Amino acid sequence: MSAGPFSVWLEQVLLAISGQTVSDVPCGDCTACCTSSQFVHIGPDETDTLAHVPPELRFPAPLMPEGHVLLGYDESGRCPLLGENGCSIYAHRPRTCRTYDCRVFAATGLEIIDENQVLIARRVRWWQFSFPKQVDRVTHEAVRAAAKFLEENRGLLQEDLAPRTVTQFAVLAVQIHDLFLESDAETSLLRPVAPTAQSVRSEVIRRRGS
Ligand code: SF4
Repeated sequence: MSAGPFSVWLEQVLLAISGQTVSDVPCGDCTACCTSSQFVHIGPDETDTLAHVPPELRFPAPLMPEGHVLLGYDESGRCPLLGENGCSIYAHRPRTCRTYDCRVFAATGLEIIDENQVLIARRVRWWQFSFPKQVDRVTHEAVRAAAKFLEENRGLLQEDLAPRTVTQFAVLAVQIHDLFLESDAETSLLRPVAPTAQSVRSEVIRRRGS
Protein backbone atom coordinates (compact mmCIF):
# COMPACT_ATOMS: atom_id res chain seq x y z
CA MET A 1 0.00 0.00 0.00
CA SER A 2 1.48 3.33 -1.05
CA ALA A 3 2.67 5.62 1.75
CA GLY A 4 3.73 8.24 -0.81
CA PRO A 5 7.07 9.96 -1.34
CA PHE A 6 9.05 9.78 1.88
CA SER A 7 9.93 13.47 2.21
CA VAL A 8 6.29 14.52 1.63
CA TRP A 9 5.10 12.15 4.37
CA LEU A 10 7.89 13.34 6.70
CA GLU A 11 6.90 16.98 6.33
CA GLN A 12 3.25 16.18 7.07
CA VAL A 13 3.91 13.92 10.04
CA LEU A 14 6.17 16.55 11.65
CA LEU A 15 3.35 19.10 11.38
CA ALA A 16 0.94 16.57 12.94
CA ILE A 17 3.33 15.73 15.78
CA SER A 18 3.76 19.44 16.55
CA GLY A 19 -0.03 19.89 16.62
CA GLN A 20 -0.17 22.16 13.57
CA THR A 21 -2.35 19.72 11.63
CA VAL A 22 -3.93 16.28 12.07
CA SER A 23 -2.57 13.06 10.63
CA ASP A 24 -3.96 12.20 7.24
CA VAL A 25 -3.59 8.43 7.23
CA PRO A 26 -5.56 6.47 4.60
CA CYS A 27 -6.84 4.04 7.25
CA GLY A 28 -9.73 2.67 5.19
CA ASP A 29 -11.67 0.35 7.48
CA CYS A 30 -8.61 -0.44 9.62
CA THR A 31 -9.15 0.12 13.35
CA ALA A 32 -5.98 -1.64 14.50
CA CYS A 33 -4.77 1.27 16.63
CA CYS A 34 -8.16 1.45 18.43
CA THR A 35 -8.20 -2.30 19.19
CA SER A 36 -4.61 -2.96 20.32
CA SER A 37 -4.72 -2.48 24.10
CA GLN A 38 -3.30 1.03 23.95
CA PHE A 39 -3.71 3.67 26.64
CA VAL A 40 -4.70 6.98 25.06
CA HIS A 41 -3.22 10.07 26.69
CA ILE A 42 -5.42 13.18 27.02
CA GLY A 43 -3.87 16.46 28.12
CA PRO A 44 -5.56 18.97 30.45
CA ASP A 45 -5.82 21.47 27.57
CA GLU A 46 -8.03 19.08 25.55
CA THR A 47 -11.22 20.42 27.06
CA ASP A 48 -13.42 19.51 24.10
CA THR A 49 -12.23 15.89 24.17
CA LEU A 50 -12.57 15.68 27.95
CA ALA A 51 -16.17 16.86 27.67
CA HIS A 52 -16.89 13.83 25.42
CA VAL A 53 -15.02 11.15 27.39
CA PRO A 54 -17.09 9.88 30.36
CA PRO A 55 -15.16 10.36 33.64
CA GLU A 56 -15.46 6.65 34.48
CA LEU A 57 -13.39 5.78 31.38
CA ARG A 58 -10.35 7.88 32.31
CA PHE A 59 -7.81 7.85 35.12
CA PRO A 60 -4.73 9.90 36.12
CA ALA A 61 -1.69 9.32 33.87
CA PRO A 62 1.21 7.86 35.89
CA LEU A 63 4.40 9.98 36.11
CA MET A 64 2.66 12.98 34.58
CA PRO A 65 1.50 16.25 36.15
CA GLU A 66 -1.98 16.55 37.57
CA GLY A 67 -4.69 16.88 34.92
CA HIS A 68 -3.13 14.47 32.42
CA VAL A 69 -5.32 11.38 32.07
CA LEU A 70 -5.39 8.10 30.19
CA LEU A 71 -8.28 6.45 28.41
CA GLY A 72 -8.08 2.70 28.87
CA TYR A 73 -9.37 -0.29 26.93
CA ASP A 74 -11.74 -3.17 27.52
CA GLU A 75 -10.94 -6.85 28.16
CA SER A 76 -10.55 -7.48 24.43
CA GLY A 77 -8.17 -4.54 23.96
CA ARG A 78 -10.75 -2.25 22.32
CA CYS A 79 -11.10 1.41 23.14
CA PRO A 80 -14.48 1.74 24.90
CA LEU A 81 -15.33 4.62 22.56
CA LEU A 82 -14.96 2.54 19.40
CA GLY A 83 -18.43 1.86 18.03
CA GLU A 84 -19.85 -0.23 15.20
CA ASN A 85 -19.04 2.48 12.67
CA GLY A 86 -15.70 3.65 14.01
CA CYS A 87 -14.83 6.16 16.69
CA SER A 88 -17.99 7.36 18.43
CA ILE A 89 -16.37 10.71 19.30
CA TYR A 90 -14.44 11.11 16.03
CA ALA A 91 -14.87 14.90 15.77
CA HIS A 92 -13.75 15.25 19.40
CA ARG A 93 -11.16 12.43 19.58
CA PRO A 94 -7.98 12.90 21.66
CA ARG A 95 -4.88 14.55 20.22
CA THR A 96 -3.10 11.22 20.57
CA CYS A 97 -5.57 9.69 18.10
CA ARG A 98 -5.46 12.70 15.76
CA THR A 99 -1.68 12.52 15.46
CA TYR A 100 -1.22 8.74 15.45
CA ASP A 101 0.31 7.51 12.21
CA CYS A 102 1.45 3.88 12.07
CA ARG A 103 3.70 4.78 9.13
CA VAL A 104 6.26 5.98 11.72
CA PHE A 105 7.17 2.32 12.22
CA ALA A 106 7.63 1.70 8.50
CA ALA A 107 9.72 4.88 8.33
CA THR A 108 11.99 4.14 11.29
CA GLY A 109 12.22 0.38 10.86
CA LEU A 110 11.39 -0.05 14.55
CA GLU A 111 9.55 -3.31 15.15
CA ILE A 112 6.39 -3.70 17.17
CA ILE A 113 6.93 -6.78 19.31
CA ASP A 114 3.98 -6.35 21.70
CA GLU A 115 1.69 -9.33 21.08
CA ASN A 116 -1.33 -7.07 21.71
CA GLN A 117 -0.35 -4.98 18.70
CA VAL A 118 -0.05 -7.64 15.99
CA LEU A 119 -2.78 -5.95 13.93
CA ILE A 120 -0.78 -2.71 13.85
CA ALA A 121 2.41 -4.63 13.03
CA ARG A 122 0.61 -6.35 10.14
CA ARG A 123 -0.66 -3.06 8.83
CA VAL A 124 2.82 -1.51 9.06
CA ARG A 125 4.25 -4.21 6.77
CA TRP A 126 1.87 -3.11 4.02
CA TRP A 127 3.19 0.45 3.78
CA GLN A 128 5.58 1.20 0.93
CA PHE A 129 7.26 4.61 0.69
CA SER A 130 8.61 5.85 -2.61
CA PHE A 131 11.93 7.64 -3.06
CA PRO A 132 11.71 9.62 -6.30
CA LYS A 133 14.25 12.29 -5.26
CA GLN A 134 17.58 12.44 -3.44
CA VAL A 135 15.86 14.21 -0.53
CA ASP A 136 13.54 11.21 -0.06
CA ARG A 137 16.43 8.79 0.22
CA VAL A 138 18.63 10.94 2.46
CA THR A 139 15.86 11.91 4.90
CA HIS A 140 14.81 8.26 5.14
CA GLU A 141 18.40 7.35 5.95
CA ALA A 142 18.46 10.06 8.65
CA VAL A 143 15.21 8.85 10.26
CA ARG A 144 16.55 5.28 10.37
CA ALA A 145 19.89 6.50 11.78
CA ALA A 146 18.08 8.47 14.49
CA ALA A 147 16.00 5.41 15.46
CA LYS A 148 19.11 3.21 15.62
CA PHE A 149 20.92 5.86 17.67
CA LEU A 150 18.07 6.07 20.22
CA GLU A 151 17.96 2.28 20.56
CA GLU A 152 21.71 2.11 21.11
CA ASN A 153 21.77 5.01 23.59
CA ARG A 154 18.82 4.18 25.84
CA GLY A 155 20.41 5.70 28.94
CA LEU A 156 21.23 9.01 27.28
CA LEU A 157 18.13 10.95 28.27
CA GLN A 158 16.82 11.59 31.75
CA GLU A 159 13.68 9.70 32.74
CA ASP A 160 11.14 12.41 31.90
CA LEU A 161 12.56 12.88 28.39
CA ALA A 162 13.41 9.28 27.54
CA PRO A 163 11.09 7.36 25.21
CA ARG A 164 9.57 4.27 26.86
CA THR A 165 7.32 2.69 24.25
CA VAL A 166 8.20 1.77 20.68
CA THR A 167 5.78 4.48 19.52
CA GLN A 168 7.65 7.09 21.58
CA PHE A 169 10.99 5.89 20.15
CA ALA A 170 9.62 6.16 16.61
CA VAL A 171 8.15 9.63 17.12
CA LEU A 172 11.33 10.97 18.74
CA ALA A 173 13.44 9.51 15.92
CA VAL A 174 11.30 11.37 13.39
CA GLN A 175 11.53 14.58 15.45
CA ILE A 176 15.33 14.56 15.71
CA HIS A 177 16.20 13.13 12.28
CA ASP A 178 17.48 16.55 11.19
CA LEU A 179 20.40 16.17 13.63
CA PHE A 180 21.58 13.33 11.39
CA LEU A 181 21.70 15.57 8.31
CA GLU A 182 23.83 18.45 7.12
CA SER A 183 23.70 20.67 4.09
CA ASP A 184 26.58 20.47 1.60
CA ALA A 185 28.21 23.89 1.43
CA GLU A 186 28.62 23.79 -2.36
CA THR A 187 25.49 22.03 -3.60
CA SER A 188 23.13 22.74 -0.66
CA LEU A 189 22.06 19.09 -0.93
CA LEU A 190 21.41 17.29 2.33
CA ARG A 191 23.80 14.51 3.29
CA PRO A 192 24.04 12.14 6.30
CA VAL A 193 26.10 13.11 9.32
CA ALA A 194 26.78 11.30 12.63
CA PRO A 195 26.21 13.66 15.59
CA THR A 196 27.84 13.03 18.97
CA ALA A 197 25.69 11.58 21.74
CA GLN A 198 26.23 14.73 23.79
CA SER A 199 25.03 17.00 21.00
CA VAL A 200 21.86 14.92 20.53
CA ARG A 201 21.21 14.97 24.26
CA SER A 202 21.69 18.76 24.47
CA GLU A 203 19.43 19.35 21.50
CA VAL A 204 16.61 17.14 22.80
CA ILE A 205 16.75 18.97 26.15
CA ARG A 206 16.74 22.35 24.39
CA ARG A 207 13.78 21.43 22.20
CA ARG A 208 11.77 20.12 25.15
CA GLY A 209 12.49 23.36 27.00
CA SER A 210 14.04 21.61 30.00
S1 SF4 B 1 -10.96 7.70 21.11
FE1 SF4 B 1 -11.71 7.08 19.06
S2 SF4 B 1 -9.89 7.22 17.68
FE2 SF4 B 1 -9.15 7.22 19.83
S3 SF4 B 1 -8.66 5.05 20.28
FE3 SF4 B 1 -10.80 5.46 20.97
S4 SF4 B 1 -12.07 4.84 19.21
FE4 SF4 B 1 -9.97 5.08 18.43
